[in-house]
Amino acid sequence: MAGHDPKPTALTIGGFLAKKPYKPPSWASHLNPIPSHTFSLGHLPTPIHKWNLPNLPEDTEVWIKRDDLSGMQLSGNKVRKLEFLMADAVADGADCIITVGGIQSNHCRATAVAARYLNLDCYLILRTSKVLVDRDPGLIGNLLVERLAGAHVELVSKEEYARIGSVTLADLLKKRLLSEGRKPYVIPVGGSNSLGTWGYIEAIREIEQQIQTGSGEIRFDDIVVACGSGGTIAGLSLGSTFSNLKAKVYCIVAVVVHSHETRFATY
Ligand SMILES: *Cc1c(COP(=O)(O)O)cnc(C)c1O
Repeated sequence: MAGHDPKPTALTIGGFLAKKPYKPPSWASHLNPIPSHTFSLGHLPTPIHKWNLPNLPEDTEVWIKRDDLSGMQLSGNKVRKLEFLMADAVADGADCIITVGGIQSNHCRATAVAARYLNLDCYLILRTSKVLVDRDPGLIGNLLVERLAGAHVELVSKEEYARIGSVTLADLLKKRLLSEGRKPYVIPVGGSNSLGTWGYIEAIREIEQQIQTGSGEIRFDDIVVACGSGGTIAGLSLGSTFSNLKAKVYCIVAVVVHSHETRFATY
């Protein structure tokens, strides 16, 4: 690409987009391997506040950690995982990122934006219905952001996705890009591998620090999150168990019964 500089040239004031050495919390220092660096991509710490829901049982308080406020285009939980994954990609000398997800995947949107910030190309394999595969997917929702960030979008039908699998699909694209002389780095669905999980181990340290610096005695008995690819709950569970937080961690799983119907179940 003309003028393309594969090395990230992010210039930053105040730490945003800076590469930082990573030191895990003491209670996680026995985990292996420990990531060496992160990129500062999220606007962290995100606030925690009391959520005054109606009709709560007596003696029950609900607090909410506002990870929706973790940034603009990068917002949500995926940015915490990407702080670790993108640092690894750059350390690997990657010049492009490959990742996979549903047609409106938040993870793919966040990855496309993070890649652009770090001056890396981004290739997205997006799962959609058979009839839409050969059409322009349009500029709706996250697709608009991905297009604005200059991501390359490849569509795959749900049937093909189920048959081939996300790992092989990413691997095939990786091989193609390697043959073109590129240096791709693959991030799995949802950014949920062992490295991405560190984002939510680190979030537990953030919560602990917020509790310590807060006024009054606050203790959380339970943490509840929505679950997709599982990295968020994996990191929270590890962190909560190893740290002094010791809250029980629950997730809500959306189970797709038919392609047009989603049932929610708690585990
Ligand atoms: C990805 C996502 C989740 C699930 O997180 P996982 O780590 O993939 O389990 C929940 N809520 C929203 C809004 C998400 O984008």
